[in-house]
Amino acid sequence: MKFGTKVLHAGITPDPSTGAIMTPIFQTSTYVQDGAGRHKGYEYARTKNPTRSVLEKNIAALENATFGRCFASGMSATETIIKTLRPGDEVVSTDDLYGGSFRLFTKIFQEFGIKFTFVDMRDLQKVQNAMTDKTRLVWIETPTNPMLNIIDIERVSEIGHSHGAKVAVDNTFSSPYLQNPLDRGADIVMHSVTKYISGHSDVIMGFLGTNDPEIDEKFGFIQNSSGAVPGPQDCFLVLRGIKTLHLRMQRHCENGEKVAHYLRSHPNVAKVFWPGFEDHPNHEIAKRQMRGFGGMISFIQKEDTMEKAKETLSKFRLFSLAESLGGVESLVGHPATMTHASIPREKRLAGGLTDSMIRLSVGIEDVEDLIDDLEHALK
Ligand code: PLP
Repeated sequence: MKFGTKVLHAGITPDPSTGAIMTPIFQTSTYVQDGAGRHKGYEYARTKNPTRSVLEKNIAALENATFGRCFASGMSATETIIKTLRPGDEVVSTDDLYGGSFRLFTKIFQEFGIKFTFVDMRDLQKVQNAMTDKTRLVWIETPTNPMLNIIDIERVSEIGHSHGAKVAVDNTFSSPYLQNPLDRGADIVMHSVTKYISGHSDVIMGFLGTNDPEIDEKFGFIQNSSGAVPGPQDCFLVLRGIKTLHLRMQRHCENGEKVAHYLRSHPNVAKVFWPGFEDHPNHEIAKRQMRGFGGMISFIQKEDTMEKAKETLSKFRLFSLAESLGGVESLVGHPATMTHASIPREKRLAGGLTDSMIRLSVGIEDVEDLIDDLEHALK
């Protein structure tokens, strides 16, 4: 099955009891058993829920994963991966990553004796140097947030595997439509389903996919033991949103390309970060591992100050100032005070995330209206 068919059909069959074409919302906490220990595969809804099971199969198919599990948020999916580690284990992570992941790693799991090393993964030698005999996990996020750097999944996976570590990729920015990390050698793919997969800014959810039955078993054990599972209503909403994932992504990419080129030609803009530019330092890797360049764009104005950023942000009329990304409507964000506020300023600046950086999640509106809005905001 091709992608556009999978979003509609993979793992989805009409409800056997009624023929309902839409997967029902099984809003139940428990299931009546025929006799002690005799049940229909469902005992308690933290462990398993039919609406969730269908969604898990569907997203797994989009990621070419044999196994898939949904969680209450992207963060709880990430947390599940880290919970498979033990005190003393080490993680090598990209240094340009979602602020919430950085906070989870350094403020919570570091306290439990897991060591995290952050490196610029565009430089493979740095990845190699960071690996030790205690490294159990390599954490990749690509494209990175908000710098839109591209990390070579295949090469970094090879380095991780040569040291006996597992490799996980946060694939949120690309969505399965643009990139499939398992096909590039990664062991685990993670999503904040909240973003492109759901696509309608109405659900918080996470996903983990893998082809390794042992890893999936651990995820299942933690999913059931910790209980960070999404409700069936949210699973239904995502199943509904996912049906147009391919169409939405095509439009995000088209609009993203036009907005990126517009910004680049604007006299007040100093730098635009978008992996589709031919002179983007990692463009060749992006072309190899992605099927399009997406609708996430960051830029810095010539007047590179916090005040200028705030002034510009206050002038948008169509782009809404909000955290998050990947919804049908365009959003604008200020990483320094919003998504990346939990990263120390020095560390942000060292990675190029200046105070004035603005991040756009380009939606699927008519692009002329988006460009008009930018023209007004940048005046
Ligand atoms: N990973 C990335 C790249 C994100 O942008 C986010 C949220 O913004 C997350 C993970 C966390 O996901 P959630 O908000 O669904 O917990």
